[in-house]
Amino acid sequence: MIIGTVREIKSQEDRVGLAPESVMELTARGHRVLVETGAGSGIDATDEAYLAAGAEIRDHARAVFDEAEMIVKVKEPQPVERAMLRPGQVLFTYLHLAPDPAQTHDLVKSGATCIAYETVTDAAGGLPLLKPMSQVAGRMSAQAGATALQKVHGGRGVLLGGVPGVLPARVTILGGGVVGFHAAQMAVGLGAEVTIVDRNPAVLERLATHFENRARTSFASQAAVERLVAEADLVIGAVLVPGASAPKMVTRAMLSTMQKGAVLVDVAIDQGGCFETSRATSHADPTYIVDGIVHYCVANMPGAVARTSTYALNAVTLPHVIAMADLGWQEALRRDGHLRQGLNVWNGAITCEPVARELGEEW
Ligand code: NAD
Repeated sequence: MIIGTVREIKSQEDRVGLAPESVMELTARGHRVLVETGAGSGIDATDEAYLAAGAEIRDHARAVFDEAEMIVKVKEPQPVERAMLRPGQVLFTYLHLAPDPAQTHDLVKSGATCIAYETVTDAAGGLPLLKPMSQVAGRMSAQAGATALQKVHGGRGVLLGGVPGVLPARVTILGGGVVGFHAAQMAVGLGAEVTIVDRNPAVLERLATHFENRARTSFASQAAVERLVAEADLVIGAVLVPGASAPKMVTRAMLSTMQKGAVLVDVAIDQGGCFETSRATSHADPTYIVDGIVHYCVANMPGAVARTSTYALNAVTLPHVIAMADLGWQEALRRDGHLRQGLNVWNGAITCEPVARELGEEW
C-alpha cells in the first residue's frame, strides 16, 4: 500500500502521524511511505531520518494526498486538507466529528473512508487510542502542579516531596481513571502524600491494591471531597463522565476553605473543567489566580511534550496501520471489530451512530 503522512497544520500541533521508526516498520513490510518535507520537525525528526527509514519525501502535502492510498495524521484534517481527500482514500487520525458539522460535511462529501482514533475500542471497553494522551496528561499534571506551587508562579512555595525533617505536600486527585492513576504515580514518585478520590468502588479497589500504603483512596462523598480539597496543597481534577460535561467537583465557595497559594490543575478542562472557576489556558500562559488559588487549565497538555506524545500515539496506532496496509482496510476492519468501531465516514455517509445522532443525520 502507499501510505502518506503530512506536517500537521493545526496551530500549536507538533506531533506527527508517523515517526521515522514507524515508517521503517512499514517499508520493511514492502509498503511505500510518502512524507511531506518537514513533517517531523516538531519532534526534530529530519527528512534525512525519514529517508533512512525508507520513506520518499514530497515537497508539498498536495503531492502526498494525491498519491497515497492511506493518510495517517494526528489532528482532524483542516479545510485545505479536507479538500484534497478523494473517494476511496483512507484517512486515519483523530476526528472528533460530533461537535464539528462543517468537518463532517466535508468528509462525507469527499467520499473518503475516515477512521477516527478516538472511537476505536478494546476488549475491556476502553478507548485505547485516547489512552496514551491521558497517560501523558496525567503524568504532566503532577509536574505542572509542582511548578505552580513555586512562589514565583503564585504558589505556596512548597516542594512536593518535602525534604528530611519537613513534611511533603498533600496532593488530592479527583478521579482515579487513566489520568488520575498516572498523576498519582508521579506524585507518589516525587514523595508527596497522595489521596485519590473516585466514586467507583472497583476503581478504588484497583488503586488501593496497586499503591498499597504509598497512596490513600477515598470514596468521593461530598464531605470527603470538601475536606480533602481544603487540606490539599495541590488538587488534580481528572474526573470523566463519558459523553457529558465534567461534574463541578470544586465550587468557588470551596476556594475560601483552601490554603492561599494552593494549586488546582484541571486536566478535565477539555470536557468543560471540574472546578467552577476553571477556564481554558494555553502553554504560553498556563496559570491564573482566583481568590488566591493558582489555576492551571491547559486543554492540550500532551502538545507540550510532542516527542513523547508522538511515540506514545504511534505505539497504539501503528498495529492498526500495519493491519490495514497488509490486509487492505476492508479486510482489516472485517477481522477486527474494535477497529471497525473507528469507522466514522464511508462512501459518502456517516457510519458512526453517536456522530450521526449528535448531528441529527440518518445512519
Ligand atoms: P477515565 O474515564 O479513565 O477516568 C475518569 C474517572 O473519573 C473514572 O474513574 C470515574 O469513576 C471518575 N469519576 C467520574 N465522576 C466522578 C465523580 N463525580 N467523583 C469522583 N470520580 C468521578 O478518564 P481519563 O482518561 O482519566 O480522563 C480524565 C479527563 O482528562 C477527561 O476529561 C479527558 O478528556 C481529560 N484529558 C485532558 C487532557 C488535557 O490535555 N487537558 C489530556 C487527556 C485527557
